[in-house]
Amino acid sequence: MKKNSKQLSIATQAIHGSKLYAFKGPVATPIYQTSTYRFETSEDAVRYAKGDPSVYVYSRYHNPTVHDVEEKIALMEHGETAALFSSGMAAITTAILAVTKSGDNIISTSALYGGTYRWMRDELPKQNITVHFVDAQHLEDIARIADKRTTIVYIETPTNPTLSIVDISEAVRCTKKAEKRLGRHILTMIDNTFATFLNQDPFQFGVDVITESATKYLGGHSDILSGVVIGKEEYIKQVCTLRKYHGGCADPFAAYLLGRSLKTFELRVRKQTENALVLARVLEKHKKVNRVLYPGLPSHPHHKIAKKQMTGFGGMVTIEVKPSKRYSPVEAAAKVCDTLTIAVNAMSLGSVETLVSIPVYSSHVFMSDEELRRHGVTAGMIRISVGVEGIEDLIADFEKALAVI
Ligand SMILES: *Cc1c(COP(=O)(O)O)cnc(C)c1O
Repeated sequence: MKKNSKQLSIATQAIHGSKLYAFKGPVATPIYQTSTYRFETSEDAVRYAKGDPSVYVYSRYHNPTVHDVEEKIALMEHGETAALFSSGMAAITTAILAVTKSGDNIISTSALYGGTYRWMRDELPKQNITVHFVDAQHLEDIARIADKRTTIVYIETPTNPTLSIVDISEAVRCTKKAEKRLGRHILTMIDNTFATFLNQDPFQFGVDVITESATKYLGGHSDILSGVVIGKEEYIKQVCTLRKYHGGCADPFAAYLLGRSLKTFELRVRKQTENALVLARVLEKHKKVNRVLYPGLPSHPHHKIAKKQMTGFGGMVTIEVKPSKRYSPVEAAAKVCDTLTIAVNAMSLGSVETLVSIPVYSSHVFMSDEELRRHGVTAGMIRISVGVEGIEDLIADFEKALAVI
């Protein structure tokens, strides 16, 4: 059955998973709201210890509801296996620590999700793990810097909030070059949260591991926290061992909600992607808007790479408003956000409702001017996570708000 379902569309996989057979039982996945499992006989405990996957023991190790969602995500992402977590950060940190020990190092592109960046910069060095940040426009540095203790090359694309694009196949090529020189494998890892697998299929470009905050597009309703790691069976086994110890496992109820959300994943993200392109085009012509950053616009500096590796350009749009005599750039951005009535002024992204946030007040707060410059972030920026509302209503909402500044 699994072989057959490989050719099915994401929309079909999202609803049916791999269970494409007559199955007598509930249509919806039940919530196994249990911490532990009854053994039929004590022999079950021995079978589990010997590695029988059909015996459930304790929900920090595994849970049928969680497992059902993991299977579906692995199928949809074209990966071998997936491991679900309590949040995106739990997924990312466990994915990295599963293969990295004291003395090792990681190479990462520098424009990352704030939490990941700060964890790599501030926490990993405490464990004697060094992170070399490379500029995504100079991926050749990966091949140059990698040494015998490099375990992971980590990238994220599109980036937050400037929606810069990292050339995935180029990052893989440079890693392969280093591998050849060193004679050993380096794991390539990508945070695919912004694009999602509907718009970007990293495995196709030779990436080894995908991490994703399922809190965002996969969940899609601003009501759960979750994260996922997808990769080869052998590697995911290591990740699951560490998940067991660190305890960042997914809660069965959150997993149930995520499984439910996945059924409309394709519908939602397709609509968000369509809405984002229309809104980006309209705002690009608006006289109160300095710049629109959207990888789907020919004016975007990395539009060509985006076209090469993305099948859709995603639902994230960043605009920079024009300052006026009355308002400084950040005041103008705040005024717009405070005037919007449909779009919600809140952090996070990927949900059915349109969300807006000001990067210098949220993801990039407390960063020095030099860091902001390096990340391409300016005070007048508003990051828009476009939802699935009627596009005419969204356009009217932004026109009304921009008229205020
Ligand atoms: C939100 C986010 C994360 C962290 O996910 P949580 O679910 O909030 O822990 C990681 N990477 C990216 C790109 C994100 O947007």
